[in-house]
Amino acid sequence: MIHALSFDIEDWFHMVDIEAVADTSKWPEYSSIVVDRTKWIVDLIGEYETKATFFLLGWVAHRYPEITRYIQAQGHEIGTHSYWHRKVYELTPDEFREDMQLSMDVISDVTGEPVRGFRAPSFSITPGTEWAFDVLLDLGITYDASLFPAPRGHGGYDCQQEAHEVTAPSGRVLPELPMSIRNLGPVPIPFSGGGYMRFLPKMMIHDAFRKFEKRETPVVIYLHPRDFDPDTPRVPMPLKRKFKCYVGMKTTEGKLRSLLKSKQFDTCEAVLRNQGVPALHERSGVCEPKSVSA
Ligand SMILES: [Zn+2]
Repeated sequence: MIHALSFDIEDWFHMVDIEAVADTSKWPEYSSIVVDRTKWIVDLIGEYETKATFFLLGWVAHRYPEITRYIQAQGHEIGTHSYWHRKVYELTPDEFREDMQLSMDVISDVTGEPVRGFRAPSFSITPGTEWAFDVLLDLGITYDASLFPAPRGHGGYDCQQEAHEVTAPSGRVLPELPMSIRNLGPVPIPFSGGGYMRFLPKMMIHDAFRKFEKRETPVVIYLHPRDFDPDTPRVPMPLKRKFKCYVGMKTTEGKLRSLLKSKQFDTCEAVLRNQGVPALHERSGVCEPKSVSA
């Protein structure tokens, strides 16, 4: 079984709904961890000769083209995580289109390659936000990895766990690689990324992997540079959020290494292909964006 390894590349201050870091004009003034920590991640997974998908924030790619090139030079897949890291369900379709276009242009300018994959900030494609799939298709995105099939703070979308196709309001389909949720009885337990992976003991994470392998369903790991960085600057936030943001940062590296040692991983694109739901640009006869409905 080959699982998906992915990283959302953003800085420590790209946290949604935290007042202290909401002013985007202040972002350039903050100390930054994204370049050093991303390079560290690329080098770490290089030790295991594993390929991964890096969903880059356009803001990061614009400001730090060198890290984008570093990821590309090691043969990893580069997708987008939007430009400004705003929640999709709070945007209008036009605002989302503009943000995505900017992000894709910036990343393509650096890599010289089209951007194919998308992950929404905070998994914020929610019921009622399906228009986003049409925007993604219009812009030439060929797969999505944004759906989080469990309730959560800023997202959540009830869908099947396996890779599948979502149908946009226009009737067009888009390949989807959802996040991994383990059900303990009626209780959905996310385990494969962010605060969930930092919080849960290694044994529970490995156990969840085994459950997924039994069902022949790949797990999708999603981590961020700050997940590995106990020295991340702290800002005021509600207690519950503070716990979620900072718990277990020292444990992430060991957990990831133990998985890299014992499991096989590849990019989101490769996993979709293995699961029989290839990204649209890999299918014959489908290549032109903007081909359907205006
Ligand atoms: Zn993010």
